[in-house]
Amino acid sequence: MKAAISEFDLIARYFKRAVPAGMLGGGDDCALFSVPTGQQVATSTDLLLEGRHFFSDVDPRTLGHKALAVNLSDLAAMGALPVGCLLGLGLPDIDESWIASFADGFYDLAGRHGCALIGGDTTRSLHGITISVTVFGTVAPRRALRRSAARPGDDIWVSGVLGAADIACRMLAGTIGTDVDLLRQLRGALETPTPRVELGQALIEYAHAAIDVSDGLLQDLSHILRASGCGARLHESAIPLHPALKNLAAEPQAQAMLRQAVLAGGDLYELCFTAPVEAHAMILRLSTALNIPLSPIGSITQAPGLVVYDRAGQAISDPPSGFDHFRIG
Ligand code: ADP
Ligand code: MG
Repeated sequence: MKAAISEFDLIARYFKRAVPAGMLGGGDDCALFSVPTGQQVATSTDLLLEGRHFFSDVDPRTLGHKALAVNLSDLAAMGALPVGCLLGLGLPDIDESWIASFADGFYDLAGRHGCALIGGDTTRSLHGITISVTVFGTVAPRRALRRSAARPGDDIWVSGVLGAADIACRMLAGTIGTDVDLLRQLRGALETPTPRVELGQALIEYAHAAIDVSDGLLQDLSHILRASGCGARLHESAIPLHPALKNLAAEPQAQAMLRQAVLAGGDLYELCFTAPVEAHAMILRLSTALNIPLSPIGSITQAPGLVVYDRAGQAISDPPSGFDHFRIG
């Protein structure tokens, strides 16, 4: 049922919850927020397009969560503390129950991370739903986790478990057969990823470089390598697989698909980071304290190039590459 509601009523009804004292939220021409003395603002924006980044029939509550989660993940990858965000929405029509659920999913995650929604823009779109979120965070100068800070000899770590989002996405897209029970266990990784915000801030003490894995582990790691001017060695057997995929891993015909999912699958929002060997024990303690799996999966080398060793210790000759929106073919 599509009710007639004005743009202004829509914003007032769904996107104008209270903001913390000292901030000016939606309702004026700009939002206002303070930054603690001596801190820098970290900011990032991500665009989500219907049919490109999410399926048209996705649960709007999970979409609200994900639209913010992918942005919080960028703050996490720099070690920044979330402060606030802006939400741009292009909607082809107004379905109030859809918007209410979307807003609930968005505010729920925002509340958990103290990331107030302080403004945005809402407009009618001609084709499909467009969502643009911009986040703001704070970080001390020269403390942010930069892509360019990896050093030869560093361990390479990854948070969480891998493979689930890619396999779930392929099942939902119909490019592989759907196993209903397996999809139920995997789809949370795709639809409601957990941004590793606390981890990112804790890693400021221990890590050199970090990136969030949005386009595939190898591709995102290669951004660190390029920015840092070094290479890397990875061990496939050390990369943690989502537990629900372990049965599949025993089937020979599933090997190539799993390798692709783990090495090149995107939409993951785990952190890949490098840290000196001396930090190893502290990082394992952090893993226990935050209850997040953290796995050492390889090391940074002086020599350029990214070599992945398979379970037999052989270099994989043609490892799968990650996602690129503009790649031809
Ligand atoms: P302007 O004409 O200055 O662009 P708008 O009429 O677009 O202002 O928006 C009115 C107010 O509502 C602004 O403060 C804006 O930040 C806020 N707003 C608009 N859309 C959203 C949204 N999707 N989420 C949160 N705040 C919004
Ligand atoms: Mg506007």
